[in-house]
Amino acid sequence: MSASNKDRIYLSPPHMGGTEQDFVKQAFDSNFIAPLGPQVNGFEQDFSKMSGLAHCAALSSGTAALHLALRILGVEKDDVVLASSLTFIGSVTPVKFLGAEPCFIDSDYKSWNMDPDLLAQAVDYYISIGKKPKAVIPTDLYGQCADYDRILEILKPHGIPLVVDAAESVGAMYKGKHAGKHALMAAYSFNGNKIITTSGGGLLASDNKEYIDRARWLSQQAKEPLPHYEHKELGYNYRMSNVVAAIGRGQLEVLKDRVERKREIFDYYKKALENSPGISFMPEADYGKCNRWLTAMLIDEDKFGASPDQIRIALEENNIESRPVWKPMHMQPLFKDCKSFGGKVSEDLFTRGLCLPSGTAMSKTDLDRTIESIRNCGK
Ligand SMILES: *Cc1c(COP(=O)(O)O)cnc(C)c1O
Repeated sequence: MSASNKDRIYLSPPHMGGTEQDFVKQAFDSNFIAPLGPQVNGFEQDFSKMSGLAHCAALSSGTAALHLALRILGVEKDDVVLASSLTFIGSVTPVKFLGAEPCFIDSDYKSWNMDPDLLAQAVDYYISIGKKPKAVIPTDLYGQCADYDRILEILKPHGIPLVVDAAESVGAMYKGKHAGKHALMAAYSFNGNKIITTSGGGLLASDNKEYIDRARWLSQQAKEPLPHYEHKELGYNYRMSNVVAAIGRGQLEVLKDRVERKREIFDYYKKALENSPGISFMPEADYGKCNRWLTAMLIDEDKFGASPDQIRIALEENNIESRPVWKPMHMQPLFKDCKSFGGKVSEDLFTRGLCLPSGTAMSKTDLDRTIESIRNCGK
């Protein structure tokens, strides 16, 4: 059989649990096919119960959630916001939407997340020039939480707010609590490739009710409480629709299973490949439990005998999707004028990294086919 005849193995495709259509049917039966409606409220309550964050606003995307979080904190033109360099662009564009300047903080090797020592340097620098950062947004990369406690230790003396980009870490834990729980606000994503999906969507959560009430209000065009349409503030059309929320309720029911399966997939790859020369895997920091949204590995080209890109192309020839690790933000042409602290670690992870197909519906045969294709690239 030629490679092209084999079914495609995707990086992280949607995986429905079975009850999503029941919730969607409820949405149809009640004719709430609009934003607002009982499924949205239900999804917010379910997410709150699952995560332990008291208040949630369901939104159209994770990017929208971060945009609202920064808006609520009063981020505006020429403010400075500190962010992870090793992340997806949606983590940082909201800073630019508000006319503020992102400054990028490199990763450490222990977690691949924001290095707290470099963050401390950046905070000291901005305080010394009289420009206290308006917020810090660490990303929980590939479902591993950043070291919130160490980050908070640095931010608290200055009263700098922590907003976690938990888009990739739904279901992950930090010191026994759900990802984002330690932050002032946390943003989650349910985009099509995330660990659970609503086809597209996001959510902003906080233990502070005022923030979330304001997020809901801003997400629906900031309409004054009057019978006619009266507007004093700039709002957005960012609310999640009732039909989309229905899918999310079904997905939340299987989140635990998805996390366990993602972790099994990671362990399977690791066991099969870690003894190959030059191959290693993303570590799990001792403070938490990663959801292993994507299995990420590092390849030392000289030792293994093939570069990450050669492996990616060989996988593609076998109809298997893989992706480079995120290209750091400080290397992006869009952000060429932005300041950054460190950069060598994320550059190295980008150069040597590869994300393997990690769909929770993958079979053992799919995993073995992927592993075999990788092994065949080596010496
Ligand atoms: C997916 C993702 C986002 C954006 O979420 P959307 O729902 O696609 O807008 C932001 N940050 C990170 C780290 C992501 O992976």
